[in-house]
Amino acid sequence: MLEYDDRIAVAVSGGKDSISLLHILTKMELEYPKASLVAVTVDEGIEGYRDEALRIAARNCRKLNIEHHIISFKELYSYSLDEIVRHLKEEGRNKLTPCAYCGVLRRKALNIVARDVNADKVATAHTLDDETQTILLNIFHGDLSRLARGKPITDQVHPKLMPRAKPFCQIPEKETALYAYIRKIQFQGIPCPYASEAMRNDMRLFLSRMEEKHAGTKFAVFKSMERIRPAIEKMFKRERLRKCIRCGEPTVGNICRACEMLLQLFDA
Ligand code: SF4
Ligand code: ZN
Repeated sequence: MLEYDDRIAVAVSGGKDSISLLHILTKMELEYPKASLVAVTVDEGIEGYRDEALRIAARNCRKLNIEHHIISFKELYSYSLDEIVRHLKEEGRNKLTPCAYCGVLRRKALNIVARDVNADKVATAHTLDDETQTILLNIFHGDLSRLARGKPITDQVHPKLMPRAKPFCQIPEKETALYAYIRKIQFQGIPCPYASEAMRNDMRLFLSRMEEKHAGTKFAVFKSMERIRPAIEKMFKRERLRKCIRCGEPTVGNICRACEMLLQLFDA
């Protein structure tokens, strides 16, 4: 996933997974003098939650002597996630959850900040749990093209689109937590206030129950997907990316999903 001379932007949210990833990559990077690390954090603007996570992320970066860059929804999109959610509630017409907006806007923000710091790749701390939840969610939504695209390392398909690597994709969440506890690493323990509204939460409970009863379920789902993916990839021809007519970021259509979402919300 990672090359000996990569400049890696580690996406650090402040939670146990991303902070553990930052500590582990910092340790590994010592062996590779040509590689470098930089931490990047997206501040979605979630009051009472993200503020503490930002402090924890910054403290860990200082301790590890890692350069840290923060990009916020407010500065990038003019609206924080809290403001978007308030607007959604006032309008009362939208069926999408806060996570649906957050995911799209954060992916774009992460790509922009990683490019700004001249990274070659973005490393995210998606664990085996996250990956298996995403696989099942895509199946439940019938979204096969996304199932094909959700690889542990993405290919660089556009000069403005950073390849993303998920070094923890086969590591259960319990183990990243265990690592953080054993190494006495400080991380944010409270969950995001919007997390319970997402379908992902139901999937998490389902998979955890299955894993408890039938150990190895999560690995089986992940490995099955790895074997099936090449066949699914063949079903979709690679879409050519172009520039969003509003923001210039890579997109398959005329306008990127983030711009489209914000337009529907605030300019409709
Ligand atoms: Fe964003 Fe949802 Fe994650 Fe909260 S739980 S940070 S709203 S994706
Ligand atoms: Zn756009």
